[in-house]
Amino acid sequence: MRILISNDDGIYSPGILALAKAAAQFGEVRIVAPDIEQSSMGAAITSSRPLLFRKTPIEKFEAYRVNGTPSDCVALGLHLWGGADLVLSGINLGSNLGNSTWHSGTLAAAKQAVLLGTRGIALSTPFDDNEPEFTALEPSVTTVLDLLVHRQKERLLNVNIPLHSTGVRWTRQSVRHYDGAIVPDKDPKGREHFWFTVTPLEKAEPGTDRWAVENGWTSITPLRLDLTDESALSSALQEFKHQN
Ligand code: MN
Repeated sequence: MRILISNDDGIYSPGILALAKAAAQFGEVRIVAPDIEQSSMGAAITSSRPLLFRKTPIEKFEAYRVNGTPSDCVALGLHLWGGADLVLSGINLGSNLGNSTWHSGTLAAAKQAVLLGTRGIALSTPFDDNEPEFTALEPSVTTVLDLLVHRQKERLLNVNIPLHSTGVRWTRQSVRHYDGAIVPDKDPKGREHFWFTVTPLEKAEPGTDRWAVENGWTSITPLRLDLTDESALSSALQEFKHQN
């Protein structure tokens, strides 16, 4: 089994090495990842300049760094490897829950895989000021990969693994609250500038990704690329059927 691994934290992140080590139990691993951090780049692609694909072995793994986004890395990686059976993205230093799935480069790499016909799984872990303990996280990562690597039912999965996870929960995306906020500040010359920040939220609704991780479980959310609002479409079709 060929497993392509990417991320948005950059090829030198400890998270991507931890994921490669866990994935190597399941197949042949190749790493293709951005040469610098590309967090919060979403599904951006680079279309106005050429991309470079440079060999950068990471410990025992065949690895390449790309001067582009996570989506670029997956597209280029799949093309130059002649395809893969699975794309894994992460392990991101920071959870990707709720509405952050819109901005996440980690998840975008998995989405890009699905767009190109390959299963995609994004993996993230909550992160504060302390470096994540990937050695302690490793058993939970292996448990999740054991469960998901050979499953064909879902094409796109968003996985969030807390340290010392107490089990796995299948969840839905939490969309009730948006946690992005603009905070004004001043630069050293007194000019106003702005920070886009993520603020803490109240407790999440049961059954959601945020709820699972807040309760110490690993969250697995199946996602889809089709964003069509089916109920809005069907009522609009009824309303405008005379125009069809
Ligand atoms: Mn990141």
